[in-house]
Amino acid sequence: MRTRTAQEIWDTALGELQLQVSKANFRTWLEKTKGLSFQDNQLVLGVPNTFVAEYLDKNLRSLVEKTLMGITQSEVKVVFSVDTLARAIEVKPAGGDMLPMPVTAQASPVSTRLNPKYTFDNFVVSNCNRLAYAAAVGAAEKPGLSSYNPLYLYGGVGLGKTHLLNAIGNAACQKGLRVIYVSAEQFTNEFINSLRERNTEEFRNRYRSADMLLIDDIQFISGKEQTEESFFHIFNEFRDADRQIALTSNCPPHCIPEIGDRLKSRLEWGLTACIQPPDYETRLAILKAKAEKEGVDITPDVLEFIADRIKQNIRELEGSLNRVIAYARLLRTLVTPELASEALEDIASKQPRTPPKTAMLVEAVASYFNLDVSELRSSKRDKQTSLARQIAMYLLREETDFSLSKIGRELGGRQPILVSQAYKKIASEIETNPDLRQTIQEIRQRIFRS
Ligand code: ADP
Ligand code: MG
Repeated sequence: MRTRTAQEIWDTALGELQLQVSKANFRTWLEKTKGLSFQDNQLVLGVPNTFVAEYLDKNLRSLVEKTLMGITQSEVKVVFSVDTLARAIEVKPAGGDMLPMPVTAQASPVSTRLNPKYTFDNFVVSNCNRLAYAAAVGAAEKPGLSSYNPLYLYGGVGLGKTHLLNAIGNAACQKGLRVIYVSAEQFTNEFINSLRERNTEEFRNRYRSADMLLIDDIQFISGKEQTEESFFHIFNEFRDADRQIALTSNCPPHCIPEIGDRLKSRLEWGLTACIQPPDYETRLAILKAKAEKEGVDITPDVLEFIADRIKQNIRELEGSLNRVIAYARLLRTLVTPELASEALEDIASKQPRTPPKTAMLVEAVASYFNLDVSELRSSKRDKQTSLARQIAMYLLREETDFSLSKIGRELGGRQPILVSQAYKKIASEIETNPDLRQTIQEIRQRIFRS
């Protein structure tokens, strides 16, 4: 039981540390650590080798301890201990036996290490990611089909790109395909090393040997001409041989700065799919799924509370849930919305934007449509006024913590069910109607500028 608690606390801490240190640092030093035990305010962390232990001890100890203090509300001493099991895991590719290509840490620095946690089964599908999900499943089921090749998924931070990319890889591995999964950062580093060691041919051959190539955060190669050139050749070989390539990025191909036009256009040859930030229902569904998986009994009002709080990033959403669970376990109490609010207090204060004043928000919507606020609250039902009212409901739901009935009251005493319908209607129309998306974005800008 103790080990589980240590791991839980550490998972929560990792969620927060991920937001505090650079991605490269996180990958190198923190990602492969484990919470081994937690006793008398001492947390023992398992690390893969002494090198990592020394680095963490020297450079990250105080940040780690500060983060833990925020979570446990007490001083925690951290001990870094070399964990032999972690080392064994490090050498063995994830999904192990199913990989036909024998990989040892030394023979090939190409990482085939997929994260087995990320599968299609545990990906919550909604309007925000439906196309990306369907395309990813398609690429995993019929790899190499030219309409999906390359598959290019893009979207903001923490929205599930890496998850889907790994899910493709895990599914393909199960079918016996040789999959290479790397971040563009790793790809670049390996390429630069191969230049230094004069074995670029070997580098290319390693990639050539795979059936499927998955590169995460491809925007990273922007401005690195030689790496791009090398990727370009590998890309062409894969495409020509109908072998699947899937890439993720933070933006569509034409928006990646400083990459050549010929690569840009090739990236658009297959299927490009965007992942949008999750709407309220999706956030709630993700939290429910996660709570169920963890086997914790959390009442819907607590999940609603968290879903209302964290809007833009699923990683933060999960981190917040972990934090609330860990907090409740430590205090040995039931999880209530009040407790959740306490546990998330400093996260909420770290959120860059303060919620807008209701009056200001409603005012901004009304003035955008050249209406008077009183008209939004009236019984007028012409097209323009109705749309403005629905948008106001949508924005109030997105930007404040108000309940449906409170939003209804703000807009002239309307029923909660009507607010909920309006919210759903706008949320789904945003997906398909770029004009509406633009309108809402402009109104948001007005609200947050003032
Ligand atoms: P990105 O690569 O877009 O920054 P990740 O794929 O790393 O985001 O996702 C961040 C976290 O959120 C991961 O733990 C992932 O499992 C989870 N996640 C994202 N989208 C979903 C989803 N639709 N269903 C379930 N979990 C999700
Ligand atoms: Mg990612």
